[in-house]
Formats: sequence, structure tokens, C-alpha cells
Amino acid sequence: MSDEIKAFVMVLAAIARKQQGKPAPMATCPNCREPLIGTLRFRGKEFVCVGCGRLWGFVDPIPTESTPELEARYRELKAKWDKEPTGAALAASEPPGGEGT
Ligand SMILES: [Zn+2]
Repeated sequence: MSDEIKAFVMVLAAIARKQQGKPAPMATCPNCREPLIGTLRFRGKEFVCVGCGRLWGFVDPIPTESTPELEARYRELKAKWDKEPTGAALAASEPPGGEGT
């Protein structure tokens, strides 16, 4: 399935869930299953995994039903990312010298 079709199906599923009053599933890492943090920092990679340091595109995450434990873990990882967005993801994605600012 192409990424475009996968994205279209995901949007339709999200609309159906919203109409049923269900919360959206949580995006989790295909590698380590940690909750992913959404970011616009990297072109073409809309999610970062603070757990394993990998970057993922819009259609890559595994949709996972939200639980109180998963929500708590998300808040913990988001706070860590917001405080200091560093790690393997940044080292691997940014060319030496930064992004040309
Ligand atoms: Zn991960």
C-alpha cells in the first residue's frame, strides 16, 4: 500500500472514531513501542521517538489504543523532549553545522 493510500485510510478511520465519540489512537514507535512525539522540526519525519531516538514519517507509527499508563508515558516523554530535544534522532538527522539558520 502506498503511503498516500495509507494516510487516506488513516484519516478516514480517525473521522469514523471521532464520529463514534472514541479518542484517537496513540501513535507508537514501530521499533520500541514507546509513544511518539509529533514534531515539525524534521522535513518528512513528523514523529520522533524519545525512547529509541528514531524519526518516523506520518504513516509509520503503529496506532495503539490509549491507556492511562500510555498517556502518562507520553506526558513523561513529551516533557523530556520539550525540555531538551537531543539524542540520536537529532544527531542522525541534522547535517553538521545545523539546518542553515
Ligand atoms: Zn522507538
